[in-house]
Amino acid sequence: MIERVLAPNPSLYTGPGTNTYILSADGEALVIDPGPVIESHEIEIIAALGSLTPVGVVVTHTHPDHAPMANPLGVRLKVPVYGYTDGPSFRPDVAVADGQEIVFGGSRITAVHTPGHTPDHLCFRVGDTLLTGDHIMGGSSVIIEDARAYLNSLYLVRDLDVVRLEPGHGPAIDDAGAVIDQYIEHRIERERQILDAVANGAGTIGDIVDVVYADIPAGLRAAAVHQVSVQLKKLFDDSAVWFVVGMAEEQTEVRAR
Ligand SMILES: [Zn+2]
Repeated sequence: MIERVLAPNPSLYTGPGTNTYILSADGEALVIDPGPVIESHEIEIIAALGSLTPVGVVVTHTHPDHAPMANPLGVRLKVPVYGYTDGPSFRPDVAVADGQEIVFGGSRITAVHTPGHTPDHLCFRVGDTLLTGDHIMGGSSVIIEDARAYLNSLYLVRDLDVVRLEPGHGPAIDDAGAVIDQYIEHRIERERQILDAVANGAGTIGDIVDVVYADIPAGLRAAAVHQVSVQLKKLFDDSAVWFVVGMAEEQTEVRAR
């Protein structure tokens, strides 16, 4: 069984807040992504566990809206903490590799290493459902650190043929295949938009953002600048653009090649 406990940390970046998941089978439970250290949220997680016996705390990646409560909660529940690697405010007791299984009751989750949003990102498969962390979000596009790794990780999860996605933010997604295809198409479309902007005279990252991310809230402009920068690195590797890093990221000069 999969139960969601919403953390009270809504924001531009986290949507309604972080989804903490409680997976249970045969009286045992795993806690996935306990989120930031918020006492009321910890109380809600423990209440949701009820009479279940917790056997582990697991994180999808080490961002501050997902992982910092994992270690304190692991201590409190007296269970091991699982994750890909160390991060800020996070240290796994058990380092989880791609393909590794974590057992609870008669069930198990299987880790799928999905770098791109962060290098340390894991999705977890349970039956025909994939817990996607920030690899795929309900209702918003994902901020990425590595455009090529991210696209490859989208192809990877598409090939898992799961039917349902439980994201780290936003509602569950029932048409998994269609939504993953939309994410892939969105990445390819973004690349095309950036190349079109450059072809039409955009000479800096700031110019590209003005065209490609014209409708984003002002509070997300810095993130958009960085997203273009991340995508330019892939386009450079694909021999599509040259760029010269500017004093500020936004001033980085770009031209087609
Ligand atoms: Zn994240």
